[in-house]
Amino acid sequence: MGGRSHHPLRRSRPSRRGGTSRDGACVCDGPRWLASRTKPAGTGVCAARTGPLVVSVFLRQPIYEVDTVCATTVFNKIAAPLRVTVTDVVFEGDILVLCIRATRRRLRCVCGWSTPSSYDSSRRRWRHLDIAGTKVFLEAPVRRLACGACQRVVTEDVDWARHGARHTRLFDNVVAWWCQRADRTSVAEFWRCDWATVTAIAGRVVADNLGDGRFEGLTRTGVDEISWSKGHRYVTVVVDQTSGNVIWVGDGKNAEVLGEFYTLLGVDRCALLTAVSMDMGRAFAAATRAHTTATICWDPFHVVKLLNKAVTDTVRWSRLTRVPWP
Ligand SMILES: [Zn+2]
Repeated sequence: MGGRSHHPLRRSRPSRRGGTSRDGACVCDGPRWLASRTKPAGTGVCAARTGPLVVSVFLRQPIYEVDTVCATTVFNKIAAPLRVTVTDVVFEGDILVLCIRATRRRLRCVCGWSTPSSYDSSRRRWRHLDIAGTKVFLEAPVRRLACGACQRVVTEDVDWARHGARHTRLFDNVVAWWCQRADRTSVAEFWRCDWATVTAIAGRVVADNLGDGRFEGLTRTGVDEISWSKGHRYVTVVVDQTSGNVIWVGDGKNAEVLGEFYTLLGVDRCALLTAVSMDMGRAFAAATRAHTTATICWDPFHVVKLLNKAVTDTVRWSRLTRVPWP
């Protein structure tokens, strides 16, 4: 041991129980290591599933041993943002299942009503973010409650997932972030799930974030149409010029479509609008003038394009008529 104390990788803290990894035994005095001494190099994990997780590197003889820590403790720290307690860690084939329970005891309906008593209970799984390429699922007992407000038996609302979803809230949010930057098929392939699942996740996240709050304090907006799919199919997009966020999308590109947005916004919030930027189309301008008193700001691109066309036309006219161009 004295010779190894000078090794640069060796930790100063010795094994707690005196068991040596050189013999292939865990320091928790439990079952033997899964990684044996015959492996030239590798990581040893205690065969006791819920016992201490000991990590050691082998190079013919042990180099160092790190502090022992329960696997559930590791995953409890990882899962802390989900507000759950990890009670067990199970490998099922190539997936990792974290058995959890909610830290909150009271059952809560999605409407907000809560009660300490449950109607019945069953177990359910949710797909969570992968760890080192391994699919991770959370498994927990989910209770039903007789909601006094809804007057029916409903499944409780859990903290780690959106109501009715089979994916965790974190998984949903990350996939939705990818959906903003890649096509649906690529996202589905990367996250190893069905493209219909990606569609459902995008819908859930959008619905969750489509609160009326996005209209609060709205003073400057921009509106434009974009085409999608093949043929002349358009959607009208309205953005908050202050935050840069898209706040509304409507099917079509005429005045009636933009009018739906102003109707949704309401008379009071329309009165607060000071400026609306748009291209030089008549439809959006007509709808804006009909519902607001905001200043209409033409898109600089279209203004410059109009000026360039005027200059070109003037030069052509000058050449054709031989009238000198000023
Ligand atoms: Zn309810």
